Amino acid sequence: MSSCKHSILVLLSDRKNMLRCQHCHLTIKADELGAGYCPECYEVTGNKQFDFEEVTAEDTGLSRYRCEDCGLIVKSG
Ligand SMILES: [Zn+2]
Ligand SMILES: [Zn+2]
Repeated sequence: MSSCKHSILVLLSDRKNMLRCQHCHLTIKADELGAGYCPECYEVTGNKQFDFEEVTAEDTGLSRYRCEDCGLIVKSG
């Protein structure tokens, strides 16, 4: 076993904030959606479409941490 005490833990933010267009089902990162409307719908129809639903990649309610020293992944929730 490792003697590491896992004292330096770094929060892993793998919960991506994704949005899915309810019309064309394009998924896009929230921070890539600069203008606020779906670029796909706009390209196809010329309409600015603002109907999105949030998509959570991992919905376990757990936070994950990585030990800086040994790289172990620690879950806590
Ligand atoms: Zn460790
Ligand atoms: Zn769309």
